[in-house]
Amino acid sequence: MKPVVAIIGRPNVGKSTLFNRLTRTRDALVENFPGVTRDRIYGDAVWNDTAFSLVDTGGFGGREDALFPQVGRQIRDALEGADAVVLLLDGKSGLSPFDDEITALVRGIEKPVLHVVNKIDGPDQEGILADFFRLGVDRLFPLSAEHGYGIHDFVDALTAGLAGLCPAARDAAESMETRIAVVGRPNVGKSSLINRILQQERVVVSELPGTTRDAVDTLYRRGQRAYRLVDTAGIRRKKSVHRKLEKFSIIKALKSLDRCDVALIVIDAGDGLTDQDVTIAGYAHERGCGCIVLVNKWDLVEKNHGMAGRFQEQIRTTAKFLHFAPILQVSALTGLRVRKIFTVVDRVYAQYCTRVSTGEINRIMEEAVRRHDPPLHKGRRLKFYYTTQVSIRPPTFVSFVNYPPAVHFSYHRFLTNQIRKAAALEAVPVRLLFRRRSGRQPS
Ligand code: GDP
Repeated sequence: MKPVVAIIGRPNVGKSTLFNRLTRTRDALVENFPGVTRDRIYGDAVWNDTAFSLVDTGGFGGREDALFPQVGRQIRDALEGADAVVLLLDGKSGLSPFDDEITALVRGIEKPVLHVVNKIDGPDQEGILADFFRLGVDRLFPLSAEHGYGIHDFVDALTAGLAGLCPAARDAAESMETRIAVVGRPNVGKSSLINRILQQERVVVSELPGTTRDAVDTLYRRGQRAYRLVDTAGIRRKKSVHRKLEKFSIIKALKSLDRCDVALIVIDAGDGLTDQDVTIAGYAHERGCGCIVLVNKWDLVEKNHGMAGRFQEQIRTTAKFLHFAPILQVSALTGLRVRKIFTVVDRVYAQYCTRVSTGEINRIMEEAVRRHDPPLHKGRRLKFYYTTQVSIRPPTFVSFVNYPPAVHFSYHRFLTNQIRKAAALEAVPVRLLFRRRSGRQPS
């Protein structure tokens, strides 16, 4: 179990920005989906060789607390459960009366507490800290969760405080659960499949509350590996009565997808690939999940030769964006290839967590550019100076170029595919982002 760090603070001090910065970059994309509440409050972070979990406890004080008295309670629970606490203050709005209250809440607790003053973008703004020392704390960490100023010093101190509690990053990564979402239209066989998976081997199964209030996950262990089937306990238990009533809920699917590493996209072999299947697959793709397409009820069509090929073809042409996703024909009814699913999940997850060294990624990019010159843009030659991997899950790279808008869609795709091939990332989404840089040297 990794140490847990709770982030607490008033609403709008920047808790979720800090949370996102320390956990995953893909959260940023979530905001592009209007109407979807971002309620991810639990995530994993790795800093140097230290792995820990982060909990964003929601707001405390002010309007939010009045509306949701349980939020205060949530913070107290988090304080009890956490191994360290990060108390976030707002350097832009200055000291607030609530800050005394919240500081009092953590005073005297016997675990590391770091007081952070957020929204400080540089040393010239650090003067504001003087005010915050009035809270009677020994040390303050000025930082900008949004722009990154001060982050290094802060996380170094945080992880130093966790020393001894943290397993080394590699061990933690290996023992980490693979989070799996099972998504698909009603009646494609999701619950049959999940039950079959869990019955098939002698596995240890338990239920755990998910991060959202109504989600209950199924935890499943197989040898040394742990899998968390996200928000599936309900699906597993569903009765036939509910089956008739079940409507496809996109929000529910999105919530599961938002919390998973690998999405099992279940389709019904009898129906073929429907528009709704493609929509669901699209959401999984947009969220940057590793994807595996399971064509279920294969017992109904398996005697028909050539069918597997036709299905693959249909999926590849209709959902082009999923060209990297492995496709498996399975049957929850007979158990056909159900065991195989986890072999594929393990492969996809390993790729999903891959780190490519900076030397290696730059060699790959140079080779790609040598093989296929970037097109001229308004008479100017596009230059790729330097590329580096900024995150895993999914593997995300940033490349510094002289003029990002000049990277044509097709050239972007070419480069992504070259990385995919050369770095053995063929079964997962790969993100390649461009940033402007006028000089030659990386900073
Ligand atoms: P869910 O709504 O996606 O969870 O689907 P269910 O698991 O409830 O399955 C819907 C129906 O399809 C049920 O009548 C299942 O018995 C049936 N079913 C599920 N998997 C298979 C399969 O592999 N083969 C066949 N022939 N029927 C299946």
